[in-house]
Amino acid sequence: MLIGIDWGGTKIEGIAMTPDGAEIARLRADTPRHDYDGCLTLIADLVARLEAAAGGEGKIGIGIPGSLEPKSRRGKGASSTWLLGRPVEADLRHALGRDIRVENDADCLAASEAVDGAGAGYNVVFAVILGSGAGAGVAVGGRAHHGPNNSAGEWGHNPLPMPDVTEIPGAPCYCGKHGCLETWVSGRAFRADYLRHAPPDIDPESITSPGIIQKMRDGDRLSALIWHRYVDRVARGLSLVVNALDPDVFVMGGGMSNVDELYRDLPPVLARYTFSTVFETPIVRARHGDSSGVRGAAWLWR
Ligand SMILES: [Zn+2]
Repeated sequence: MLIGIDWGGTKIEGIAMTPDGAEIARLRADTPRHDYDGCLTLIADLVARLEAAAGGEGKIGIGIPGSLEPKSRRGKGASSTWLLGRPVEADLRHALGRDIRVENDADCLAASEAVDGAGAGYNVVFAVILGSGAGAGVAVGGRAHHGPNNSAGEWGHNPLPMPDVTEIPGAPCYCGKHGCLETWVSGRAFRADYLRHAPPDIDPESITSPGIIQKMRDGDRLSALIWHRYVDRVARGLSLVVNALDPDVFVMGGGMSNVDELYRDLPPVLARYTFSTVFETPIVRARHGDSSGVRGAAWLWR
């Protein structure tokens, strides 16, 4: 049996799965934010309850909202900043009392979709998460690719390519730089861009990303302008990936991947920014949706 844990910034989810991918049990809990030890305790509790439900001991894979320093195995590059500098892998092994495998959450998405999702049958899969943050993972031949710095897929912390004068220097990012892609193409950034231009009497609390998309569909001009600017920024960001790696498929995850218009509007804009005048790469929605994180974590023992 395989156990997959998706340690997210707002939710921690676990799945027990057979080796051929059939779900046996699933549990979900709110993340104790800013409480590292609380997270470890909660994960151990989830694993115990999953194994009780499934009636056996499993091999455990864990997706974390960040990655590990390749030598020290300490947390780095995590928007859940309470993981930074922590010996995450050793602490999880200690909390669970057995060997485990740990991977970046976007790498779990890439591996999950490459094995039996929207990226199945493609050799090089570039999986993008456009959610509360923006991240990416790379899978080659069905396995997550890391590189010597564990930095493959840290796409969200490249600067926005080809910025216009209004996009310089860009908003500060938690990583210490300005204008990272994450600050332009996350769902949070899309909403913030709308709010910057919204009528002053609007209540910001009433504005959500799906709400802006609905306004666009209803013919609202501001929402359409914000959407097309968003698509243009995503396209510029992905053009880097095409020019450097030219993956066989882009698999899109996270809340913004649920917008149908993305698959209509993004490819022609992306084609304007790549070096090659030909752009035929499929851009597809993740098949397992929100479950890709747990499934990809479970597949770490594949
Ligand atoms: Zn950054």
